[in-house]
This record gives sequence, C-alpha cells and structure tokens, in this order.
Amino acid sequence: MNKEMLKEIFNEIKTRNKIVIHTHERPDGDCTGSAYGLKDIIKTTWPDKEVYVAAETSDFVSFNGTPDVITDETHNGALSIVLDTANRDRVADKRFADADMVIKIDHHIKVDEFGDIDYVDTSRPAATLIILDLFLMFEDELKMTKDGARALFFGTLTDTGRFKYSGVDGDTFRNVAKLYDYGLVASEVYAYLDTRTEELTRFKGYFLQNYSKTENGVAYFKVENEVLERFGVTLEEATSLVNELGYFNDCPVWILMAEYEESIVRARIRSKGPAINLLANGFNGGGHAMASGANLGTWDVAEKLLIEADALVKEYKENQKQD
Ligand code: AMP
Repeated sequence: MNKEMLKEIFNEIKTRNKIVIHTHERPDGDCTGSAYGLKDIIKTTWPDKEVYVAAETSDFVSFNGTPDVITDETHNGALSIVLDTANRDRVADKRFADADMVIKIDHHIKVDEFGDIDYVDTSRPAATLIILDLFLMFEDELKMTKDGARALFFGTLTDTGRFKYSGVDGDTFRNVAKLYDYGLVASEVYAYLDTRTEELTRFKGYFLQNYSKTENGVAYFKVENEVLERFGVTLEEATSLVNELGYFNDCPVWILMAEYEESIVRARIRSKGPAINLLANGFNGGGHAMASGANLGTWDVAEKLLIEADALVKEYKENQKQD
C-alpha cells in the first residue's frame, strides 16, 4: 500500500465536485463492486457531489448497481477514476480521457500508464480491497452505507474465488471485517451467488462430459453458440464455469473459449502452475499470473493458443521433475 499516493487520491476526490467512475469492458463483480462501492462512499460522505458510474452491465453484475447515463458533457470539468483496468483499450467508455484529470486504480500487472495518477497495487487480490485501503485510511472522514459494503463484498468474493486465490492475506480479512461493521448482510450476497438456473445446471453436465485435454495437460472447452442455444444459457452463464476445469492434478492450466460479440473469440485462461499472463500477452490479452484473458479473434488462433499453452505446461512439468 502506498499511503502517500492514497492521500493524493483522497485529496483529489475531496476537492472535486464532479466525479465519473469507469470500469472495464465485459464487467465483472470486482470492477462493478469497486465502482458502486466507491460511488456509495463518495455520495454518502459528500451528498452534494455529482458522482456517476460509467459502466456496461449484465444480468450478473446488475446486483451491484445500475450504470448512470453519461452524455458527451458529463466529463466536462470532471475527475475520471478508472477502476480495475490495466490498459486504456479495455476501459468501457473511452470518454474517460475527456475529464480534467484521470486517476487509475488497479490491481493488475501494469500494462499502460494512462492516468495523471496511476495507483497500481498488485498485492491486492481485488480492486475492491484498494477502495477499502483508501476508505480505512480516511475512515474518520468517510462514510459508507450497507449497499456500498455489499458491493465491495461482492467484488472481493468474486475476484478472490471466495477468499481462495493467491494474494488473499491478513489484510484482505482485516479490510473485509470492516464491511460487517458498516452493515454488510453477507448472506444476501451468498444467496445470490449460490443461485443457478436449471438450464445452466444441465449445461454444466454437458460441459463436464465434453471438455478436452491437450497432450501435456491443458484442459479446455470451446463454448459454441449452437450449444448455448440448445441449452438456453447465456454466454455469461456458460463462461462462468471456467473453474470447473481446475480440479485435475495433471492439468495445471485450463482454458475456456467462447465467441463473444461481433464473433470475437476470447479465452479465459487459468493456472495453478506456470504463470500465464505472458502467454495471454502474446494473444492480445493479459491479466494476473494465475488468471488471464485474451482476445483471440478467430477459432484458428484458439488452436495456436492451445499449442503454446501445451508447450508451457510441458516445460513446467519438466522443470517440476528436475526440482
Ligand atoms: P477473465 O477471464 O475475463 O475473468 O479475465 C481474467 C483476468 O485477465 C482479469 O483480471 C482481466 O482483467 C484480465 N483480462 C482479461 N482479458 C484481458 C485482455 N484482453 N487484456 C488484458 N487483460 C485481460
């Protein structure tokens, strides 16, 4: 944690009257949880400030809040705060750059520097935890409602795999403990996350019967649009199953690929062995060492990704043997 920089960020938020909070494309629990959590903190502390969330939404993340309407004038004289986004191209609304000042707050390995202040803390397993670092540092002055606490909890849970992934440490729990003091009803979040449609349950059965493995141990599944239609599930629901391929001892890397909007094939890549972010970088992607994403474009490129991922696993297993 860089206290000096957090102080600088706090002072900017305190002195600006108009703030637009931005998230990344294809929003997840963390970018929306940190955005609506931060909005709640600012509005509860300073009700007269204008605060907007410029985000996309989806069935899943709508739990955290509703995006605001952003016009071409919204950024005039504003402070933009871009959350949970390592590269400029991934910011959902590119008008963030029209603001007077841009602050980037992120926990991914740095890709672009695009803020007047770039605050990157890769030791935090979720962006929500950086918002909590800021909140707790200035707790005497800042306020938060239970809705803000719920959004921050949702983002933390989803980005840490319910406190399971690397990066979770004592600070994670110390920060999250505070959310309970601010009225968090954790059971509401668990109830939401633990609800699944029968359609998705049936699709999961199909998925587990039909995944594939490369020669050296990359488990993968290609979500074809025809299958989505057959089972009546959305792309978002289907791709949420990525970690179902993470249980196998002989497959330290697993990949779920699907065709997104405008027929762009994307990959969700996960690991419990070798770092995969460099692999993702080579395919128009990035992320964390153990969780990355890549924009492949076409299914042909998907085959290339599988070949490179397989080679990475081969090398990893050979090194393991030598150790
Ligand atoms: P996902 O599989 O979409 O959950 O992404 C896993 C991680 O990789 C997240 O932290 C994303 O922010 C990051 N990520 C996904 N896609 C990309 C991309 N095209 N470029 C950079 N980072 C990405």
